[in-house]
Formats: sequence, C-alpha cells, structure tokens
Amino acid sequence: MIHPRTELREVDPVIGCGVFATALIPRGTIVWVTDPLDRYLTPGDLKAMPARVARELLIRHTWQTKEGRFALAWDNSRFVNHSCSPNVLATELGFEIAVRDILPGEEMTNDYANLGLQRDEHFHCARGEDGCRGEVHYPDAARMRTTWAEQVAEVLPVAQQVAQPLDFLLSADVREKLRVGVKVRERKRVPRFEPLRQPALAID
Ligand SMILES: [Zn+2]
Repeated sequence: MIHPRTELREVDPVIGCGVFATALIPRGTIVWVTDPLDRYLTPGDLKAMPARVARELLIRHTWQTKEGRFALAWDNSRFVNHSCSPNVLATELGFEIAVRDILPGEEMTNDYANLGLQRDEHFHCARGEDGCRGEVHYPDAARMRTTWAEQVAEVLPVAQQVAQPLDFLLSADVREKLRVGVKVRERKRVPRFEPLRQPALAID
C-alpha cells in the first residue's frame, strides 16, 4: 500500500503517469509496504493468462521477488517511476522509505536498479536530471549499493520521529527491528542492502 498522501498524475507524454505527493512527506516516512491485496503471481499464473494480458502486466506493472514470483501491487504504487536520483529507496525491512523530504506536488521515485534488475535487463532513462545515468543496467546495483545503504541508514532512525500512516501494516518483528535500527546506526554499521522489489521494464 502506498502512502495515502499521494495521487496519480501525468508526468509527461513520454514518461506517462507517476505518483505525486499531495502533502509534505518528510524523510524517514515509510511510503510503501506490501499488503494483503497485493498479488504475487507465479510464472504458471502468467502462462495461464492471455499472452497480451501477461505481457502488459510484466512490462508495466510487476516486479519479481527473490522467490521468483511476479508481484502486482493493487494500488497506485505500481505507477512509481524510475529516477537516477530517487527520493525513495527499498529497505531490507520489507518497506520503502523516503530518503529525503518529498514536497507537495513532487513526484515520488525509486531507482529501478535499487529494486533489482535482471542480469539482461536495461532501459533508457528519459529524465535527464542531474546525475542521470542515461542507460540503467544491472551492474548499476553493485556500484550504487553502498550509497543506497548509507542513505537508508541515515533515515531509518528518523522513522521513529515522523508520522507513519502505514504503521498498521508493519509486523511486530519489523517494528522491533526499526527500534533496534537506531542502535545499529549508533554502532556505525550500515545495514546490508537486499533488493525488495524488482521493477517494471518500462518507465511508466
Ligand atoms: Zn536517469
């Protein structure tokens, strides 16, 4: 489930739709947690569908889990676009977190390489922002892993200090890890990064 203070808008005709903040979402806010309405399809499920439906789902709206299932979020979270300078990153705790303040009207983005590209997967990033890599490839994850882990480690302790509307979706175990995470940072350890989500193949 995506943070409630978001809505779907068109970014531009090339990128298509994206998810935008309707109010300030402070850094440290958990902006996505899976919920029971999300679907996790097996390759067999997709095979049983008309090819065009399966292809559309795969290309645009799913990511592959570590277990090899295709995750289809039921809400607008499936429209979160890629950016090479994302304001959201995945964590090893099963949620995604704002790594900087997301201002009202600002688009929420993640780096699809952060979500775990397939080895042969790559795409052109049309955003052209500062730091835009142009082509996004599988090896980007290895290069960026430390940077992402540091960004997440920096904001995890803040999660305790900001409103968390998605808190009700967190397990007791994750809440405990979040609480302990503050101590982890104090010991100057960087949490190990594990991709949580894999991206859609297209920008939108
Ligand atoms: Zn880019």
